[in-house]
Amino acid sequence: MATLSEQYFELSKQFIPGGVNSPVRAFGQVGGTPIFMARAEGALLYDVDGNRYIDYIGSWGPMILGHAYDPVLDAIRAALPHSTSFGAPTVREYQLAELVCSMVPGVERVRMVNSGTEACMSAIRVARGATGRTKVIKFAGNYHGHGDSFLIKAGSGATTLGIPTSPGIPPAVAADTLIARYNDLADVERLFAAHGPDIAALIVEPVAGNMGCIPPLPGFLEGLRGLCTRHGAVLIFDEVMTGFRLAPGGAAELYGITPDLVTLGKILGAGLPVGAYGGRADLMAHVAPEGPVYQAGTLSGNPLAMAAGLALLKTLKESHEIYTSLARKTEHLHTQLAAVLQPTGWPYRINRVGSMISVHFTDTEVLDYDTAQQQDVPRFNRLFHHCLSKGVYLPPSAYESWFVSDAHTETHLELTVEAFRSFVDTELAYA
Ligand code: PLP
Repeated sequence: MATLSEQYFELSKQFIPGGVNSPVRAFGQVGGTPIFMARAEGALLYDVDGNRYIDYIGSWGPMILGHAYDPVLDAIRAALPHSTSFGAPTVREYQLAELVCSMVPGVERVRMVNSGTEACMSAIRVARGATGRTKVIKFAGNYHGHGDSFLIKAGSGATTLGIPTSPGIPPAVAADTLIARYNDLADVERLFAAHGPDIAALIVEPVAGNMGCIPPLPGFLEGLRGLCTRHGAVLIFDEVMTGFRLAPGGAAELYGITPDLVTLGKILGAGLPVGAYGGRADLMAHVAPEGPVYQAGTLSGNPLAMAAGLALLKTLKESHEIYTSLARKTEHLHTQLAAVLQPTGWPYRINRVGSMISVHFTDTEVLDYDTAQQQDVPRFNRLFHHCLSKGVYLPPSAYESWFVSDAHTETHLELTVEAFRSFVDTELAYA
């Protein structure tokens, strides 16, 4: 008898490409049928078949304080009767912008958009418009949304000119994206030496989260700051994932490095569709209508989304203890998982920054895309399905960071460790 998730997936595939509205949801990387969710509360997800899961994706980041967080729901309820959109300025837009400027280092002006993708596309346009240059440096394995300039990975070497990862990207666009190796300053220097006067911007995930969690090596972000300043390129921190997660001011605050532009999303909208880009006032002055760089949006600054973001960010700004507690919890999870994995003799690496964590089954340090690719993906896929069967919902890909939220309790963490323990037992039984 097919589960309801299986039945809904079959129906969805008849009307939606691949049955999902964002590819990783389809479980393509881990195999099996995606689970259709019915509701969520705190750290728990409930599916349409009545199963319950401890959630480690948190809607891919926004749910830092857990699902259905009361102040967010109350704020949306309060805004709802006044209409869902005006297409005209509203008070909450400047209030959220002011809050963002007060929290994120280097952000003097900010423009709201509807997704992280839009934020990154727009930030690059501003950098190009302001510098009059065309090329952009990105790192292999960093994800900045699905804009044409970003869906480029390294060719045969990690340092060649861009080759599109997806059909549909004109070669001329791809040629303007230069690919560097994450955590490798010499590689970036080489690109600046070869293309310096043409490089408008360098965009980086200051803590990478899209090839598992990979922290920047000491000196890496400082080095990028120095190179961009020296070559007159705009340094863009893509903090769509790390913004408001690693500290109220994101990775820029955590590592004490101020970029020229920052892109934001996820937590900013508390689960409603919001992104933003912001930074130095002189750079943001290029954005229309103040300047000539065009960027617009029918639903940008949506009143429900602004209300939700305001409620969440206010809480985060006022309580540094949340970050201490999140880091402590995630460290505890790390220690416990390591205690389960250590005796197996399996190669593994656990990377962690704040409430971002991931387990890679590999014996090399995971520092960049190449080393992330050396992991034992089939073992991760078995882990994923085992955990799912035990009520623990990990990201359905070996290349994603897991997120711990304020709503995860000690019991949730213990149950997660227990799921790992029984996974190990099962693997060893079949070894
Ligand atoms: N930048 C980073 C670092 C991300 O992790 C993501 C999404 O996961 C994006 C940009 C794109 O954001 P969105 O999915 O909201 O378009």
